[in-house]
Amino acid sequence: MEKLDLYSMLPEELADYFVSIGEPKFRAAQAFKGLARGERIAEITTLSKKLRDRLSDETLDTPPTVELKLTSKIDGTVKYLFRLFDGACVESVLMKYKHGNTLCISSQVGCRMGCKFCASTLAGRERDLLPSELLGQITAAQRDSGERVDNVVMMGIGEPLDNFDNVVKFLKLVNHKDGLNIGYRHISLSTCGVVPKIRALAEVDIPITLSISLHASDDEKRSAIMPVNKKWNIDALLLACVDYYKKTSRRISFEYTLISGKNDTEDDARALASLLKKYFVPIHAPIHVNLIRVNEVKETGFVAGSVDSAKRFAETLESLGVVATVRRRLGSDVNAACGQLRRSASAVQV
Ligand code: SAH
Repeated sequence: MEKLDLYSMLPEELADYFVSIGEPKFRAAQAFKGLARGERIAEITTLSKKLRDRLSDETLDTPPTVELKLTSKIDGTVKYLFRLFDGACVESVLMKYKHGNTLCISSQVGCRMGCKFCASTLAGRERDLLPSELLGQITAAQRDSGERVDNVVMMGIGEPLDNFDNVVKFLKLVNHKDGLNIGYRHISLSTCGVVPKIRALAEVDIPITLSISLHASDDEKRSAIMPVNKKWNIDALLLACVDYYKKTSRRISFEYTLISGKNDTEDDARALASLLKKYFVPIHAPIHVNLIRVNEVKETGFVAGSVDSAKRFAETLESLGVVATVRRRLGSDVNAACGQLRRSASAVQV
């Protein structure tokens, strides 16, 4: 029988659980404080030894463990490979900025979205991560590094909106005032464009920042590198973004990976600016584009252009009134690009 996962429970659910095993309700608050910080059950000493022994036996008491850790000599970025209770591994990246520490977390073991440039999707999706495993990446990174995680970005392995219910639950757990208490404004979620789930996210009233992986500004080019576009095209995606903004007033940012010869010419920049302006100027929504030169993944064959051409692309966008930033590539010496470490680690194991 599958064991109960207390780490995925909100205090009110823990209260029901404790009552069901004949314990008083207030145990929930005691337990939640420890669980939300990623303590093993044996460490939660506000609970009696007898109760801890019982819970350790009967429930899932195996937060993610550090399987591998690489620290960048260039910028201090730490890349973690975490091992989960069933042996599966996922990656998280801890980046240190002046405005605080940001952890990039994974949302699934593998991914089924099939983006042609991405290492995470090469072997498909194995399974979704549990709410506790989304949270556990943060608590494990905090405990290992001794650093507080101030900001969270869901930009690691997997498509967060393809694991919607667990992601929403995780957001409530991480935001809880008796837990890590990380504000929704300090959390962003990146999606390749699962349109119905963008609409569902607007309904749950969790004001995180949405980031859209756009990468092309016409359907032909986007479908060629992102199969998801064949199901929900650019128009459907941007209309969902417009509605998300109308509903939440939260700024949406767009990710645009520059791939040499595919989407990085001056004409591409002009097309991108006019596309975004067409949808967002009428509703007075700010538009922000994050440009990143593609991380070259051996299996995909895509090539990055020069830093100068990325700068020119940004300048063209800016000259047309679209705010654009060329992202620094942190941790380039530790395989910080998504999915690369997990693949090389599993290749070693084989
Ligand atoms: N599935 C989500 C989040 C994970 S990917 C999404 O698609 O947004 C996080 C970001 O990294 C996305 O913008 C994705 O398109 C981008 N990405 C994936 N592989 C990349 C690569 N090789 N080089 C640069 N960016 C990449």
